[in-house]
Amino acid sequence: MSRRAIYPGSFDPVTYGHVDVIKRAARIFDGVIIAVARNIQKSSLFDTEERLAMLKKATARVPNVRVEAFDGLVIDFARRNKARVLIRGLRMVSDFEYEFQMALTNRRLAEDIETVFLMPSEGYSFLSSTLIKEAVSLGADVSSFVPAFVARRLKERLRGKKK
Ligand code: ADP
Repeated sequence: MSRRAIYPGSFDPVTYGHVDVIKRAARIFDGVIIAVARNIQKSSLFDTEERLAMLKKATARVPNVRVEAFDGLVIDFARRNKARVLIRGLRMVSDFEYEFQMALTNRRLAEDIETVFLMPSEGYSFLSSTLIKEAVSLGADVSSFVPAFVARRLKERLRGKKK
């Protein structure tokens, strides 16, 4: 039986931290579906189609990876795609509490689906999409944190925009 995993998130926008986790997952599983949440609580800077397009481009050379958008519960998306594993990235202890809560909630909702945590390379363990957006809006160069085309999109979207 082939082992397929789902990597869900908002990816607003994709960073090298996400890409690092995706590459690690692609080495372990036969297929990885990167699932971009349409209905995110926080208002996103990029709409779903933009987030999808950036992820596709950023992962174009990673084998066995597909990018899709989803609505609703991630466990339902996993079941529809015959995947039994959810991937989440763990950066620091500060991620733990929220991730722990979510993993156990998902387990209660779907006992047959397991959450697997992967740690990124330590060089990316401080990276977050939120921080990158803030840095760009303040004028920082983020080209070592995100692919060049993402840095460009961020600049276009954020510079000069009042916040
Ligand atoms: P969400 O809104 O679901 O937290 P994100 O797009 O922020 O979505 O993150 C998706 C997943 O990737 C989460 O598990 C998050 O912890 C993880 N992640 C985000 N940034 C990094 C990073 N720099 N290194 C490793 N994992 C990360």
